[in-house]
Amino acid sequence: MGDTKHVCSFCGTEIKDNNVMIGINASICNSCIDIYYHIMSLTDSLVDDYHKNESYNSDLTPKIIYEALSKKVIGQEQAKKVLSVALYNHYKRINHPTNKIEKANILLIGPTGTGKTLLAKTMAEILEVPFAIVDATVYTEAGYVGEDVENILLKLLQNADFNKEKAERGIVFIDEIDKIARKSESPSITRDVSGEGVQNSLLKIIEGSIINVPPHGGRKHPYQEYISFDTSNVLFICAGAFAGLNMPKTSKIGFNGNNDGYDSKSMVDALDRVGLIPELLGRLPVVVNLEPLNHQALKDILIKPDNAITKQYQELLKIDNIELKFLDEALDEIVSLAEKEKTGARSLKRILEEIMLDVMFNISNDKQPKSLVITQKMVKRINLENELEFKMKEGG
Ligand code: ADP
Repeated sequence: MGDTKHVCSFCGTEIKDNNVMIGINASICNSCIDIYYHIMSLTDSLVDDYHKNESYNSDLTPKIIYEALSKKVIGQEQAKKVLSVALYNHYKRINHPTNKIEKANILLIGPTGTGKTLLAKTMAEILEVPFAIVDATVYTEAGYVGEDVENILLKLLQNADFNKEKAERGIVFIDEIDKIARKSESPSITRDVSGEGVQNSLLKIIEGSIINVPPHGGRKHPYQEYISFDTSNVLFICAGAFAGLNMPKTSKIGFNGNNDGYDSKSMVDALDRVGLIPELLGRLPVVVNLEPLNHQALKDILIKPDNAITKQYQELLKIDNIELKFLDEALDEIVSLAEKEKTGARSLKRILEEIMLDVMFNISNDKQPKSLVITQKMVKRINLENELEFKMKEGG
C-alpha cells in the first residue's frame, strides 16, 4: 500500500492497511462491512417473514372461512360448514408440515350450476393460493390419444406464474369426475374402460407424490426435461353431478366417516357402484353433497352476493347516471325462466344479459339522471321473442 491513504467510501474515515477492502474506485472499512452485513441479515429475515405471511393468513378460523364463503355462495349451508372446517385443517396442515395429518381432498357431489366451481374458486381466494380448473374428460391413460394427467399440474404452475413453491400449495378443481366412471349406465364401452385408467393416473397425483411435469405440456416423451412437482400439499377438489347416484333424502354430508345421520360406508358403496374406484374414493375423504337450488336461493343469487349480477348492471348504468331497479316480480320471472332450463344458477346470467342487451343498446349519453325499472312484462317479452325464434327455427 505504500504511503497511499485510503478513505472508506461509505463513512469517510481513514482506514488502515489491514482492515481495508479496496475496489478500483471505492474502499470500505471493517465497521462499514459489519453494518452492511447486519442490514442484509435483517432484510433477509424480513423477507422470510413476509413470504411466510404471504402464504397464509394467520387469522383464519373455520367461522371466518364460512363467512367469506357466504359472501359469494348462496345457500349450501351444510356444504359451506364442512368445507370451512376442511379448508381450515388443510391450511393448518400446510403451515405446520407433519405427516400425521392426512390430506383431506374433497369430493363435491351436486347438480350442475349449484355452486361447486364457485365454492372451490372461493376457497382458493380465501387461502390466497393458486387455483386451476380442469375437466376430467380430457385426460386419458398414458399411451392413448388425449392429455396426460400431469398437465393438470402444469396448469397450476402456469396460474402461479411458474412459482413452484406457490403452486405446490395450490388448489386443483377437477370437474366432471363422474364422466370418467369405470362403468356407467349409458356411455360407450371404450370410455368406460379408459375411465378406470384415468382414475388410476389421477390417483397418483392426488395422493401426494413427486410428479414429473413436462414444462411445455403435451404428451410425455423420453428425452424431455421435467419439473419435479410435489403434490403432497396440493388440495384436490373433485366434482361431479353423479346423476345416477341414489342418496337417501336425509343424507347431507359424508365426512370422513363422521357425518350427520348418514352412513359413509353406504355412500362409498354408492359411489363405487356409479364407477369411482375405491382407491380414488379413499383419497377423497371429505364428501360433500350440494343441494339443488330452490326458487328463493336463485333469487338471492341474483341480488345478494357482493358481485351479484344485478348489482353489476346497476353499477354499470350508474356511470351513465341511470338508476336501475328490478321489481320483485321481474326477479321472480327471471328465476322461473332459469328453473325451466334445469341448469341451476347457470342460466340466470344469460337471461339477465338478454334483458339488459336491449336496455344497454338504447342508452343515450346525455347524462341526464334517469331511473329505469325492469318489470315482469319486460322479462316476459324477452322470453316471448325467444320462443318465437325457437318456433321459427323448428319450422324450417
Ligand atoms: P357448478 O360447478 O356446480 O356446475 P358453478 O359454480 O360453475 O356451478 O356455478 C355456475 C354459475 O352460477 C356461476 O356464475 C356461479 O356464480 C352461479 N352460482 C351457482 N351456484 C351458486 C350459489 N350457490 N351461490 C351463488 N352463485 C351461484
